[in-house]
This record gives sequence, C-alpha cells and structure tokens, in this order.
Amino acid sequence: MSGTLFIVATPIGNLDDLSPRAREALGAVDLIAAEDTRRTGRLLSHFGVKTPQFALHEHNENAACDKLLGRLGAGESVALVSDAGTPLISDPGYRLVRAAHEQGIAVVTIPGPSAVTAALSAAGLPTDRFCFEGFLPARQAARRARLAELAGETRTMVFFEAVHRIRACVDDLAEIMGAKREAFLARELTKLHEQCVRGSLGELAAGLASGAIPGKGEFVLVVAGAAGGAGPGVDIDRLLGDLAAQLPAREAARIAARATGLGRNALYRRLLELAGD
Ligand code: SAM
Repeated sequence: MSGTLFIVATPIGNLDDLSPRAREALGAVDLIAAEDTRRTGRLLSHFGVKTPQFALHEHNENAACDKLLGRLGAGESVALVSDAGTPLISDPGYRLVRAAHEQGIAVVTIPGPSAVTAALSAAGLPTDRFCFEGFLPARQAARRARLAELAGETRTMVFFEAVHRIRACVDDLAEIMGAKREAFLARELTKLHEQCVRGSLGELAAGLASGAIPGKGEFVLVVAGAAGGAGPGVDIDRLLGDLAAQLPAREAARIAARATGLGRNALYRRLLELAGD
C-alpha cells in the first residue's frame, strides 16, 4: 500500500498563519520534502516538529522526485513544503505531484497562505476572474514584450516581482498599460514592515521613485484588467492600422488608447513598428 503525499502550505511571514492541520501533518508524516531544509528547519523547530527533512529544489528535482516516489511507493507518507506559502505556486513540486498521480499515490492538499490570494483579497480590484502571471521575464525587452501581450487582458492580473526589479517593472507597466490603470502593491505581507498601496500605476511608480514605497522586501503587484473592451479578442494592430490609414500616427495612437485603455506611447511605438514592417 502506497503512502500519501501531503501538499502543505506554510506562512508567508507571520508564523501564526500555520494552520493546526498543517502543524499536525508536519508532525505526523515520515518525511518532509523541503525546498531549503535550513529555512524549513527554523519553522519546524518553532513548532517543535522533529520530522526528518529531505531537500527538493529546482536543481535536484528529478533525482529527489525518484527517491521520494520510491519512499511513497513503500508506504511512507511525505509532506511537501516550500520556503513560504503554497508549494508549486512559483515553487518546486510540479514533477513530484504529477508523478504521484501517475503512480496512483494519494495526493492530499493542506491549503493555507499564498502571497497570490493574500494580495488579491486585499487589493480591492475585481476578483471574479483573475490571472496569475508569476514572475515576468528578467530582461527588459522580454518583459516589455510580455506586458504588451497582456495590455488587452481584461481579467485582474497578479504578478510576483523581485526586489531589484520592482521599480523597472512598475515603470514598464505604467508605460505599456497606461499610467492611469488601477493597481495595488503589496509589500512584506503579514510581516513587520507590511505595506499595501492602492493607486494608479503612475502613482505606484512615483511612490517607488521617491522612496515612499521602499525598494525592500517581497512584492506582489495586482493590476486591474483593461477596461473598454480591449479584451484578448481585440486585434490592436488592425485597429491601429485602420485609424492610421485616416489620421496622423499620434492622433491614431491617442484614439486607440482611449478606446482600449492601453498606453498611448506604447501604441504609438507599435504603430511605428507596424509602419516599418
Ligand atoms: N509559493 C509562494 C506563495 O504561495 O506565496 C510564492 C513563492 S515565490 C518563489 C516568492 C514570491 O512570492 C516573492 O518574490 C514575492 O513576489 C511573493 N511573496 C512571498 N511572500 C510574500 C510576502 N510576505 N509579501 C509579499 N510578497 C510575497
């Protein structure tokens, strides 16, 4: 009889957010598969959990997976945790969970904190539909290309961003999606220096530039979807082409920006690109 793989969410800052069920599972399993055993060790010792750990991170995922599946197959139970929050959400574990299902091993989730849902729930932006974009590409050209693809997305968007890129990322967002687009920046959620700022992308960019929002800690950015019906189905290039056939390029970009809610400068640049093709 195979053991059970438990997927256990852990706090994203405040240790009191570990659920009693998560605490119980961590103490009861044979083995805890952790992204960083030193970091998880601190959590376990805080809660007096003595269960042995096994490292599973992105650099050893294949080999670690095989070993864990062997132990699960032999009837042991394993809890998968990540450094913070919910495993697999921009964290390792996908291969293990998938393989466990393929091998008929029971997978049980013990839900709890995630920076995604924590930020989204406090953002005051529509939550009936949203998309999680995780981390944007690190290189500016690739990041801007991805943001241009997302400019017409009508669902609320959730992004993770690394501390050293948050300013550049919000600047790019303001330029490509429009400085007036509503957004919410969550910094250091559930921690001592928690700061949540709601405002337009332009205001958030200014706050980061002035230091009113310190460039320190961990960030989640929630951005309102495009208004005005510029959904994924709208062909922006075609709209721009039609307008530019009748109007000077700057005027075409201005009207397209009003119709779609996208940034006027980004649309103007796109028009120039189209003209160069
Ligand atoms: N699996 C995790 C979860 O469910 O929250 C996310 C892991 S991902 C590698 C780490 C990113 O999550 C950080 O770079 C940051 O964008 C976000 N994050 C994690 N904890 C946070 C916190 N306390 N406040 C704000 N953002 C946080």
